[in-house]
Amino acid sequence: MTAPLLQAEALSVEFPVRGGLFRREVARLRAVDGVSLEVRAGEVLGVVGESGCGKTTLGRAMVGLYPPTSGRLLVEGRDVATLGVAARRLLTRDVQMVFQDPFASLNPRKRIRQILEVPFEVHGLAVGAEREARIRELVELVGLAPEHLDRWPHELSGGQRQRIGIARALALQPKVMVLDEPLSALDMSIQSQVLNLLVDLQQRLGLSYVFISHDLSIVEYLCDTVAVMYLGRVVETAPAAALFAAPRHPYTQALLAAVPDPVPRRERIARPLEGDVPSPLQAPSGCSFHPRCPLAQPRCRESVPELRVVDTAGLQRAACHLL
Ligand code: SF4
Repeated sequence: MTAPLLQAEALSVEFPVRGGLFRREVARLRAVDGVSLEVRAGEVLGVVGESGCGKTTLGRAMVGLYPPTSGRLLVEGRDVATLGVAARRLLTRDVQMVFQDPFASLNPRKRIRQILEVPFEVHGLAVGAEREARIRELVELVGLAPEHLDRWPHELSGGQRQRIGIARALALQPKVMVLDEPLSALDMSIQSQVLNLLVDLQQRLGLSYVFISHDLSIVEYLCDTVAVMYLGRVVETAPAAALFAAPRHPYTQALLAAVPDPVPRRERIARPLEGDVPSPLQAPSGCSFHPRCPLAQPRCRESVPELRVVDTAGLQRAACHLL
């Protein structure tokens, strides 16, 4: 079997927490904790969880914006950390990111043409007429017209700005795109247009996506596989159809219980979650979900459950002592 296009192996990301007069490091915040995931050619992997679960940090680590504290990031089977600068740059061209806030991610002092030129400049690709042709092709690919190239970001609507964010990510012809809540800053009416564009691009270009979202309805529609994160860890992963039909982890069950389901297709097996995700600086012992879990038992406070296979097909895995 060929290597996955993108693979995280026991990946952890920590940040120093500084305090006091001299801004000394007083603690470490572990935002991603030993995550192992993979994305294969043409696949859409959804990463879901509440705010603060670590999904955005994981996404940024997967495109190389945050270096792993431990674990490995592999692109087509090659460990990014072991490569020289030039080889790493070549490899990371294959993995690009679309950010949540299309306004904040576009430089307000540059026209759209200049914004789309940046990836070509950074990687020394396509100059002169060839670059202009590639840029025109990109705007057309995302459903905009060449005249948009002469506009400033503030002259575009939210949906148009996100289309530019997608065009910029496509400039280097990546194989994988990490999409961090790409629809959540958009009006409801625009969300479906951008979602349709993402589906269309994925099919036309054979792209793989890591789709980070808290919107489970969209994840169910778009994704082949889903990973559910809680406090930096993956607590359940499965093919999307299996996960939405029969979630196994109590956290996944509670997340799904909060999704409006006008035509009930699944039995409600949990109540929606109460309370907030604890701070990673004060992560609960054992299973970090135990303070909110209706099924928690004494051993849940003491030991961390392993992510293990919980179905007969060997495709669904969950981290819970009761499974
Ligand atoms: Fe709940 Fe315990 Fe399972 Fe954690 S390990 S999800 S606390 S039952």
